Amino acid sequence: MHMNKTSVADLAVFGGLPAFAETLHVGRPNIGHQERFLSRVGDLLERRWLTNNGPFVKELEAKIASLLGVKHCICMCNGTVALEIATRALELRGEVIIPSFTFVATAHALQWQEITPVFCDVDSQTHNIDPRKVEALITPRTTGIIGVHTWGRGCDALALTEIARRRGLRLMFDASHAFACSYQGRSVGSFGDAEVFSFHATKFFNTFEGGAVVTNDDRLAERARLMKNFGFAGLDNVIYIGTNGKMSEVSAAMGLTNLESLDEFIAINRRNHGRYRLGLEGLPGISLIGYEESERANFQYVIVEVEDTVSGISRDELVRILHAENVRARRYFHPGCHRMEPYRSYFPHAGLLLPETERLTTRVMSLPNGTAVGESDIQVICDLIRFVIENAEAIRSRMA
Ligand SMILES: *Cc1c(COP(=O)(O)O)cnc(C)c1O
Repeated sequence: MHMNKTSVADLAVFGGLPAFAETLHVGRPNIGHQERFLSRVGDLLERRWLTNNGPFVKELEAKIASLLGVKHCICMCNGTVALEIATRALELRGEVIIPSFTFVATAHALQWQEITPVFCDVDSQTHNIDPRKVEALITPRTTGIIGVHTWGRGCDALALTEIARRRGLRLMFDASHAFACSYQGRSVGSFGDAEVFSFHATKFFNTFEGGAVVTNDDRLAERARLMKNFGFAGLDNVIYIGTNGKMSEVSAAMGLTNLESLDEFIAINRRNHGRYRLGLEGLPGISLIGYEESERANFQYVIVEVEDTVSGISRDELVRILHAENVRARRYFHPGCHRMEPYRSYFPHAGLLLPETERLTTRVMSLPNGTAVGESDIQVICDLIRFVIENAEAIRSRMA
């Protein structure tokens, strides 16, 4: 039986916990200086230049390239289209190896182009693609590997680079979580043949909807630029098959504004993350995923692993209680790409090769973070989790 609002109201009374007045979503947007954004909107309306490689898009591309230390940044309408364009520009086909423990867009961007995503398991500690398991998946049809920097923690780009070189494969990264992060002291964005960001509203850095392909490869950048603009090389001159992947000026205005507040976003996220760490400290069966002190991180993701044999309550039960208390915790990545359609039907036994992924998809949840989450919110969330764990047995019997 499912827990409903009434039983949770009981729970709140039972433990004397306040219910949230307002729903706390994971991923409420980080928004920079409102006046500066509105002033930019005024400028772009004044110019009547709304899209098609306008001045704000150009400025944003230059600023991101310089921030990340890469040669080219090509902004696009969203991260999924940026992934599709990058894979096409790299001429990937046949099979491409990706982790299953990712947002489904990583797989869809390939399958949409009839490229087969081959799911690789992840490392239980890093939650990132396990390079030791990549080689066994390479076949004569394999053309590339896409690593995902899950939670903004860089995946093992060095090992993947070595494998890709030795086996003659292309290497790309889905860096959707990892804007302004580093791996081995080097800025994410500069690894592999290309890296792709999402600037969706829920991401650390957003342009409402948006994304970008970044690369140091001139030819690849040129192709990606053509592809996002129908293949137009000049007025009336189409030299390539393309799509419409352009970023609008209003999105770029948001991006420029949010770039100015990046350090502030990181400081708030980092402080929040520390508060969660203190609030959840010592709770049996609850472990908070940390960030390396030596790397630059955006701290956008507050990721908790729930070990139900120790906590006495499962991740799913905990998420259900948090939802009923208006805390929008999310099961990530649930249930894993290989258990979603069409992949589930194509590869019904994929899970057999993905034991760590299978384990993580039942244990991991993300808790609200971002500049919209305050100290008292975190206190109540942690108190609630503590209460549930300490009374796991009684709560479980009420939920049953
Ligand atoms: C958000 C996300 C995407 C998709 O980006 P959109 O901008 O929403 O299209 C792709 N991959 C990962 C890992 C993501 O988190």
